[in-house]
Amino acid sequence: MADLSTLENIARYQAASQLISGRLRLSLVQSLTGISIRPLRAMWEEIHGEGASSGKLPHGVLSFMVNQTAAVGLSTFASMYLRQNHSGGKVALTAKGLLGTWGAYQKFCGPLDLNAGYYAAQDVMGDTVSFPKCGGCGVHFIYDRGSTLTSRCPYCGLAPTKYK
Ligand SMILES: [Zn+2]
Repeated sequence: MADLSTLENIARYQAASQLISGRLRLSLVQSLTGISIRPLRAMWEEIHGEGASSGKLPHGVLSFMVNQTAAVGLSTFASMYLRQNHSGGKVALTAKGLLGTWGAYQKFCGPLDLNAGYYAAQDVMGDTVSFPKCGGCGVHFIYDRGSTLTSRCPYCGLAPTKYK
């Protein structure tokens, strides 16, 4: 990161401050911005008036699937992320992309844990979870056979007959 211009650096710190305001876990902020953990910790304390959590990170988006609202919300967030950050066939997880989709999501759908949004986008893009298109309503959703919340389409309730 040594040869970033001053403006690029300012943009990086601005993104970090917005991500921290959204309470995104610091190691995730670090991976998105490339800023080391010490200044990020200081920023967290300044913004929230308390130390950042240093507990274990969630395993992935499935750990946020606690109810029907989360199943619908996180599938919607992943779809929005893919749609908004598609350029030339490639989608990357970036601070700018995450903040943009999070802002749009909350405007239309209500509050969402930014950490949950991060994992929804990351896991769907990295193929850690299946994201099939529902045969009933045609919407993509986060599928996992391990839970009744994710083993059927959260929008229309159709259970898939064949998925990997
Ligand atoms: Zn459906």
